[in-house]
Amino acid sequence: ESTINKIAAGEIIERPASVVKELVENSIDAGATSITIEIKGYGKDYIRVTDNGVGIESDDLEIAFMRHTTSKISKIEDLEKIKSLGFRGEALASISAVSQLKVITKTDNNLIGNQIVLHGGRVISRKEVGCPKGTTVIVTNLFYNTPVRAKFLKSESKETLKINDIIYKLALSNPNISFKYIKDNKVIFRTRGNGNDEDVIYNLFGRNFLSSLIRINYKDNNFLMKGFISEPSFTRGNRSHQYFFVNNRYIKSNLLSKTIESAYGTLLPSSRFPVIILYLFVPPYEIDVNIHPTKTEVRFKNEKEICSTIYDTVKKLLKKEDI
Ligand code: ADP
Ligand code: MG
Repeated sequence: ESTINKIAAGEIIERPASVVKELVENSIDAGATSITIEIKGYGKDYIRVTDNGVGIESDDLEIAFMRHTTSKISKIEDLEKIKSLGFRGEALASISAVSQLKVITKTDNNLIGNQIVLHGGRVISRKEVGCPKGTTVIVTNLFYNTPVRAKFLKSESKETLKINDIIYKLALSNPNISFKYIKDNKVIFRTRGNGNDEDVIYNLFGRNFLSSLIRINYKDNNFLMKGFISEPSFTRGNRSHQYFFVNNRYIKSNLLSKTIESAYGTLLPSSRFPVIILYLFVPPYEIDVNIHPTKTEVRFKNEKEICSTIYDTVKKLLKKEDI
């Protein structure tokens, strides 16, 4: 059982950044409007996610760590309709299998909260504690019992980049949630959660970055596109600042990157890449969400149409900028 959990953990918990992603997605699922993420070192030693969401009922606390027990999907067709980010019920089980983990949580219905500690998936202690409504998960000593996996981690700076990248994506895809990111006791950024996408970008990347962007806004019957692309003079040496969100969920898409880059045409210096922060909204029946654990790939059923709309819109915007 514990070996199975350790192996399965590897599927979704590859590195500290995956822990951050799963914990924050749980906070989002719990309806949090404020989420604090704190890491020390590069997350291997310490990751804390605190939210003001609904909390976990005392009776559900052990169940939350059991694989698949929380699966919200009974039929595969439900996948088309899923709204919540978590639906496999394995994140907490997986994380707890390969770390030392503490959860402190309280719901609105209870005066007192609960704290549970697990080491390698085993419950070490459980007690009542006073705490505000919401949930704090603290993960320490990640991969302490799976040395092989620990060895596969990249350098400290690369793991930190991956964590930052995940947090940027989560903050960008949830402008209505206030995020605070603390690293090694220093506040790295804070978003206000007021729904304003420009505010989020300003808080993450700064004023210069924001002022080099051109706003996109396009709408037709069942396709809405908004966000930003950079002025042709403001480029990057790679695609690290290209973000695509479909129905507020981050996706990876070479197709969308290439479509937009080709609309820049010769405006784009060679080996340079525009900044893109693009939010697409399409009816759920227009997309196929891949059932891959990381869920970052999406296929559009009418891909050609969407791409040509995006291409034309970007082309037009850049032409205006040219004058
Ligand atoms: P899933 O998110 O796929 O349901 P997880 O293993 O990520 O599975 O979480 C298990 C369960 O624990 C969730 O379904 C939820 O009921 C509960 N849970 C986890 N994190 C939180 C949180 N931050 N706030 C409230 N409930 C949570
Ligand atoms: Mg989850």
